[in-house]
This record gives sequence, C-alpha cells and structure tokens, in this order.
Amino acid sequence: MDHPTQLPTSEVDVVIVGAGPAGLMSNLWLSTFKGLSVRIIDKRTATVYAGQADGLVGRTQEVFNSFGFEERVLKIAQPMAEFSFWEPDRNGQIFRSSRTADGPPNMSRFQGAVLHQGYIERFLKDAIKEREGPDVEYGMQPDLLQVDESMVEGDDSHPITLRIRHLSEQESAPSQFGHTIANGLFRSTNFSTSEEEDQAINTIAKAGTQEIIKCKYLLGCDGAHSWIRRQIGVNMEGDQTDFIWGVLDIHPLTDFPDIRSRCSIHSARSGSLMVVPRENELVRLYIQLEDLERNMDGRIDRSKITPEDILRAAQKIITPYTLQYDYCDWFTAYQIGQRVSTRYTKFDRVFILGDACHTHSPKAGQGMNVSLMDAYNLGWKIAQVLQHKAPRSILATYEAERRPVAQELIEFDRKWSSLFSGKLEPNDNQAEDGLLEEFKQTFEDAKLFVAGITVTYAPSVLVDKTSHQKNDHSTKVLSKTDLAKGIHLGMRIPSYRVLNQADARSWHLQDRLPSNGQWRLLIFAGSMIDLAQRERVLAFADYLLSPLSILNTYASEDIPLFDIITVHSGPRTEVELSHFPPPLRKMSEYNNVFVDDHSYLEPFGDAYKNYGVDSIRGCVVLIRPDQYVSWIGDLEDTDKLETFCRGCLRRLPSSSSL
Ligand SMILES: Cc1cc2nc3c(=O)[nH]c(=O)nc-3n(C[C@H](O)[C@H](O)[C@H](O)COP(=O)(O)OP(=O)(O)OC[C@H]3O[C@@H](n4cnc5c(N)ncnc54)[C@H](O)[C@@H]3O)c2cc1C
Repeated sequence: MDHPTQLPTSEVDVVIVGAGPAGLMSNLWLSTFKGLSVRIIDKRTATVYAGQADGLVGRTQEVFNSFGFEERVLKIAQPMAEFSFWEPDRNGQIFRSSRTADGPPNMSRFQGAVLHQGYIERFLKDAIKEREGPDVEYGMQPDLLQVDESMVEGDDSHPITLRIRHLSEQESAPSQFGHTIANGLFRSTNFSTSEEEDQAINTIAKAGTQEIIKCKYLLGCDGAHSWIRRQIGVNMEGDQTDFIWGVLDIHPLTDFPDIRSRCSIHSARSGSLMVVPRENELVRLYIQLEDLERNMDGRIDRSKITPEDILRAAQKIITPYTLQYDYCDWFTAYQIGQRVSTRYTKFDRVFILGDACHTHSPKAGQGMNVSLMDAYNLGWKIAQVLQHKAPRSILATYEAERRPVAQELIEFDRKWSSLFSGKLEPNDNQAEDGLLEEFKQTFEDAKLFVAGITVTYAPSVLVDKTSHQKNDHSTKVLSKTDLAKGIHLGMRIPSYRVLNQADARSWHLQDRLPSNGQWRLLIFAGSMIDLAQRERVLAFADYLLSPLSILNTYASEDIPLFDIITVHSGPRTEVELSHFPPPLRKMSEYNNVFVDDHSYLEPFGDAYKNYGVDSIRGCVVLIRPDQYVSWIGDLEDTDKLETFCRGCLRRLPSSSSL
C-alpha cells in the first residue's frame, strides 16, 4: 500500500461513506446549506434493485414533505389503512379474529404507507440534484482511517484522513448467489439514470488506484457491517435471535380474503406470516422459516434459501386458502439481530448513522425510517457548525437524542418479534389466547411510537426542559411549558390548519416549516383586537428590531437564521395586515402572518385550542431547523430567549460588533 502522503490528496468539509437512506438523507441536508464541500462514496456499482425496506411512517413523510417531494411518494405508495389479525380456532383453522386501524388517527397529516427503498433513494437523489448537491461516487471504499486527536477541537481543521480505494467492477457488483430473481441476500444500489451508469463506468476505469481525502467530519452510513464503526472501535450491544425470516415480494394468486390489507397470521402449527400490500399490486410476505438445514457448525446457510422454499412455508401457514404467484419481484432471508452500538461518535468528528449503529427486524417497518431520521437529526447540526452559526457542543446532542430512540425501538422489536414468532403450544388454549392478546395489545400500544410522532429528545443545549435524570441539575430551565400545553419541548411541532391573513388561503402550519436550515420563531400573537395585547406584540417586535436582539446577534450571511411566523387568534376580518409591525410582517412578503380562523373551503384547524395556547395572551415558541421544539416563553421573556440561544448559537464575526 502507498503511504498516504504519496497519493493524490484533496480536502473537503464532509465525507459520507454509504449511499443508502442514511447517506442520501445526510447528503440532502448538507446540500441544502450553501457553500459546504461534501463527497459521498459507496462501494457498490450494480443494477437496479427492488425490495429492501418498504414501510414509510407518518413522521418520515412529514420530513419528505419539508424537502418538497412527499407528493411523489403519495402518488405511488400504498397507504396502510387497516390491520387484520388472523389466528387459529379450536380446530386449528385460521380465521380473522379482529381488525384495527393501521396507525394512530389524527396524529400526523400523513398515514403510514408502503413503497420500496429504490423509489425513496431515487426521490432523495433528485432532491439533492435540485439543490446542486454532489452525486454519489460509486465503486469506492475506504481502507484507512486516521483521526488526529490534537486537531479535533479546531474550528477549521481537517483532523480526519481517509484513504480511498477505487474498486473493480467485480469487487463492487454484488453477487445474486446464482438466483435470477433480484434478492437481498446481498445489498445492491440502484442506478436509475444513464448519467449514474456512465459515472460508475468512469469510476471503474480508475480501479485499483487510491486517493486521500482529508475532511472535517466523516459520516459512516455504511450499513449493518459498518467499516467506519469498526475503525473507531465501537461495538454493537445486543443479540442475534435464532429465527430465520423469509421475505417475498410477489404478485399473488390467492383466495385469501385479506391479501390487500396488512395482516398477521398466526397458524396453529406452522409458524406465522405477515402480509403487507405494496405499490403496483405487489404484496410482501414476511414468513418465519422452520425446518431449515443446518451446516456442521449449526449455522444456516441463507444463500441456499430459494423463493420456492419461502412460498412453501407461506402456503402451510395460510392453509386452507391457496397461494401462488405469477411474478416474484424480490426475495431475501434474514436472521433477526437486535443490536445498538455503544457509541454513535468519536470526538464528535466521526459519526455513525442508520444500520451502522442499530439493527432490528424489519417487520415493524422501522429500519429505513429510523436511519433517515438519524441523518435528519445530524445533518443540520454539522452544517451550522461548519458555517460557524453554532458551537461544536451541539454535536453531542446527536448521540444523546438518537441512541435512546434506537434503544426504545429495539425493546419494542424484541417484544414484537418474539410475540410474532412465538410458538403456540398444541392444545394449550390459555397460553395461545394470552400470547395473541398480548400481541394485539402491543400493536395498539406501539402505534404512536411506530409512527415516529412521539420521539422526544432529552434536555440539552437544544431542548430547554426539565431533566428527569436523577441528580441532573445541569440545565437551568427557562421555558414555560404551561403556555402551550399542546406543544411539547423536545418533540416535533404538530401541524394544524391556519389561514393566511393576506389572502385567506388555508395552510397546514408544517408547510411553513420547510427544511431549509432556518430556526423558526413562532409567535402566537393572541388577540390583536385587544389593545393591551396588541401593545405586548408591538413591544416584542421592537425587541426583535433592537441591535442586541437574537435576530441581529445571530445574523447570517445567506438566508436569515430565524424565520418569523405569526399566528393570531382572529377574527381575520377584524384585523389588518398593517396591525403587524416589522419584522413580523415585511413589506411585499405575504406569507408570514396567519390567523386561527374558519376557512371558506377547508376544515377549521382550531389551532389555538389544539396547541393549548391562550387565545388572548399567546406565547412565543422557538423551533429547531428539524421542526423539534426548543423553547417556549412569554412575549416578555426576551432575556430567557437570549440566554437559551447563547447556549446553542454562535455570533457571526460580522455581528459581534453590534
Ligand atoms: C439484505 C437486506 C434486506 C432488508 N430488508 C428489509 C425489509 O424487508 N424491510 C425493512 O424495513 N428493512 C429492511 N432492511 C433494512 C433497511 O434496508 C435498512 O434499515 C436501511 O436500508 C438502512 O439504511 P442505511 O442507509 O443505514 O444502510 P444501507 O441501506 O444498508 O446502506 C449502506 C450503504 O453503504 C454501502 N457500504 C457499505 N459498506 C461500505 C464501505 N465500506 N464503503 C463504501 N460503501 C459502503 C452499501 O453499499 C450501501 O449502499 C434490509 C436490509 C438489508 C441489508
């Protein structure tokens, strides 16, 4: 191997290793911020794939909406409306025992849906292109990682050295294990455009060569066998279960009545099956495989499993109904491992995301969602640190916020998977009833968590709330949570309809929170027809215009760091836009002032009631660029707001003289 210094060397801000969901979401976030240099590499070069992850929960779709491509998802995805439970009767024959809603009602604008990972990666790539972000460089793999510890706290230092090897076509194209049907026995990437194919061919032309990239931050999005994780000496905690699951994506031919509804089927003697209807009239079957041949060492060679094996197992479970297919799109077989890594970062310079730091069974449809959300949590923080808008200390919140989410998911997955895979004892009706009842109850209890809506980040420099940790007096709480009982610190802000004061158009509030890197100052102005309240609002606006306000202290060279959104409690027709002084309203901008009032055409959002805000006195809410709530206070609490911002934002050199 060449010594690092003899190789072609370049410097960038961020290198992303791995272009699955976590890597692409990281790339998308970083591409949203101007002026950052980013490279994203992946070891694969391969043809279009199908299959892999399929479930998209409500929160993920809210995030897609904030990046502007949720409409594309809605056009193709199969919504998940209903879940049916099938179980054996006293004679061992399966029957539908109950049905329920497949998700929590009214918690997110977006219902859970199913769409294969290839589409999602395509949409992410298109959104990156729109923002002129970097293309994925395929057929490249790091083989040396060094971090210079003496440089890790330096503002503009490049403490990370990565040696990259360009792979040959043979090395980078995943084997399909001799199967003609696409399968997930190995991971492959998807090229959807000829440009990507050309680029892959160019990369292959460099096969065997090496280069050095020096970077400020390194994101290990390199999947469950993460090389980056191993290089930084981080272990996975947890265990591998003995259950082997087969997955079949097929166009089914069957008389089973619930084939277009998501359902679980527990058979009396042949294991269990989950049915997930998909886009394009496909159906995914998750099947517990039993009676598999083991090697001498007791392990099962998954590469020997065929779609026919998986179908046979499904047929046994679904009897007396019949099941065949006329087309198989993809299949895989996997063993459930429920693991989370001990750390998510080294020096807050090298980070691991997605499957690189947590693995679990895919039956709850969480793998891709949680991986995307890891990247959504971290991307804006790194960007703002690189732009000198935030101190490096905010980066510690990535592990603090995301690791508990993975731990909770793994706890849920352990329970859900073992109940799903649980053996029903012959003739033990009590045990059988108990297991199935617990299974159903677990499903009901987990609806909110699974939808990704209830994720709540702990107190930190980015979330101003009381710590529930014993003896943790580190955070001085400045927020007044009683002012907005429907808004929770550390949770994403829910969305309700409000009307634009200027043109009476009805908006979902979340549509005013695009992922563009801005913090939001959401001002609930209360009653603008109450003169005393109007004075309070004017005083707050005066503060914002003053030289030492947060707007002027944390001024930004590109788009303003704070986006100001005002919602008053109406009535709309008794209030004029001119009642709102700058900077609440800016001349020739008509998208900043909203009202909680009835629309001519759309349903009433009842926003003040739903947000739990007093319709006379209002309040102020500070929202992070990823839509999570940081701080809540009164219109007069400007000193508290400033104190909070001092902990998580940095003055730009140009604004320090103000
Ligand atoms: C075979 C398989 C089947 C799955 N089936 C399902 C399913 O049915 N349902 C479900 O919900 N989830 C499923 N998952 C899980 C889901 O796909 C993952 O949770 C999700 O893709 C995680 O995203 P990620 O970006 O973290 O990792 P991945 O999607 O695994 O992406 C990692 C990327 O890193 C690249 N890479 C790896 N090592 C290196 C390296 N050293 N250098 C450069 N590049 C590297 C890989 O080529 C890959 O493109 C499956 C995963 C696998 C691997």
